Amino acid sequence: MTDHPRIPLAGVIGSPIAHSRSPLLHGYWLKRYGIKGHYIPMDIAQTDLKAALEMLPRLGFVGLNVTIPHKETMLSIADVVTDRAALIGAANTLIFRPDGKVHADNTDGSGFIANLRQNAPQWDPQAGPAMVFGAGGAARAVIAALIEVGVPEIRLTNRTRARAEGLRRDFGAKVVVVDWVQAPHTLDEAMTVVNTTALGMEGKAEFRLSLENLNPKALVNDLVYTPLRTQFLELAEAAGCTVVDGLGMLLHQAAPGFERWFGHRPEVDEATRAAVIAG
Ligand code: NAP
Repeated sequence: MTDHPRIPLAGVIGSPIAHSRSPLLHGYWLKRYGIKGHYIPMDIAQTDLKAALEMLPRLGFVGLNVTIPHKETMLSIADVVTDRAALIGAANTLIFRPDGKVHADNTDGSGFIANLRQNAPQWDPQAGPAMVFGAGGAARAVIAALIEVGVPEIRLTNRTRARAEGLRRDFGAKVVVVDWVQAPHTLDEAMTVVNTTALGMEGKAEFRLSLENLNPKALVNDLVYTPLRTQFLELAEAAGCTVVDGLGMLLHQAAPGFERWFGHRPEVDEATRAAVIAG
């Protein structure tokens, strides 16, 4: 170890990594708050993961974000795993502790809730059931967070039903699995509606299930943020619903890591959003 103060380094590891917006976001915050530090994207193969986690702290890294395909693997490599990361089954934020231990957390669920609270302050999660489309990694974070804020029931639907059944087993009786083709018929009771599928994302198929039974009092959120205005949100807005896009979740999930690594709680505001949209 050196005895002079080091410039803190953080970054995001995944493979591929070129598409990640995290370097842009953290770079913007570092500049805005005049913090001497760097945030670096790193394409690391699964086979190099353990070696990288041993070496990076010695090079001055204070922590990392983790993205596809390493989020699940991280749970078995980290020394300490938070309860919420264990429940979600994945980690997206690592802290390299001074005692040498790797601490793994998941901030996707808190980022999801913070986005809804910020952009739809009148949202009451306890007002009625939620409908969640999709049962992948993002759905796990969304379901854990919705249960934590007191949603009475989560109707979960996924193209591959077995995957939704798996989440029901993990998260318990508040989760009720609804068949993918039946889901549109039960939408009218849902007060919180979330698309966690990749449908509607640039380069993917469109979301094609009917949304005509949406309750106009519902809050509708799409996790997809490329494009920002998905057809899913357009249809929900046309039905009179309050809509929130997915970019705020990306911004909010990043804030706790930045604070831990660089010692300053960053603002998630219009200027942050504009910086990320401008690229
Ligand atoms: P994932 O684990 O790969 O899950 C993908 C989900 O999309 C599964 O439910 C899958 O259904 C469904 N799906 C994919 N193609 C489909 C199709 N043609 N028809 C019906 N369903 C389809 O991915 P993830 O990590 O959960 O991410 C899902 C989305 O959320 C992505 O668009 C990602 O960018 C976004 N996301 C956003 C944030 C944010 O901060 N805003 C955070 C995390 C993720 P099957 O099980 O049937 O394959």
